[in-house]
Amino acid sequence: MKIASSPNKGSLEVICGPMFSGKSEELIRRIKRAQLAKLSVVVFKHRFDNRSTLQHVRSHDGRLSPAHAVDNPQQFFDYVTSTTLVVAIDEIQFFSNDIVPIVCQLIDSGKRVIVSGLDLDFKNNPFGCMPLLLAIADHVTKLKAICMDCGSEAQCTQRLVNGNPARYDDPLILVGAQEQYQARCRNCHSIGI
Ligand code: ADP
Ligand code: ZN
Repeated sequence: MKIASSPNKGSLEVICGPMFSGKSEELIRRIKRAQLAKLSVVVFKHRFDNRSTLQHVRSHDGRLSPAHAVDNPQQFFDYVTSTTLVVAIDEIQFFSNDIVPIVCQLIDSGKRVIVSGLDLDFKNNPFGCMPLLLAIADHVTKLKAICMDCGSEAQCTQRLVNGNPARYDDPLILVGAQEQYQARCRNCHSIGI
């Protein structure tokens, strides 16, 4: 769907890093500042991310911002109108590459688009649509967490299954397994064999 375009193009800000690095916190901070400036903001998250609430973006320290949960980026156009100035999207790595032309369409129609997502998966490989979005971005913020093993700065996400490092070929969802994620530095990050 086409949205009325503004004479000026918008921009893309990407906030990335491992789990617990403060991506959602930073996204919520930018959303709140835009709202303080009385800009019209629309917030989205992926429907997969139903960990605590589908109606909010939520950071690990409990900050909340109301959001629309969608599973297809075409649904953005049910909420984004010609008066929308800022579009924020959390956990964008859950969307397929189909989201990239839609983000470009939003930028072309004058929106300030702010997205946050994991740049690397638990195997330390670039995550889905993130490399493309990072290439298109006007501004990139790469955050670090604290390694839960040694206390150094962490840029990796460790997946543990029943207390052991997840294996390279483990499926994305392991039925019956106790899964846990930790922030780890490169030295402490490991993949099971
Ligand atoms: P992300 O969206 O990147 O997963 P959040 O914004 O949801 O991160 O949460 C960041 C918050 O997580 C921090 O402010 C801190 O309170 C908490 N936290 C828990 N574990 C860690 C860790 N290992 N490193 C940094 N922050 C952590
Ligand atoms: Zn470490």
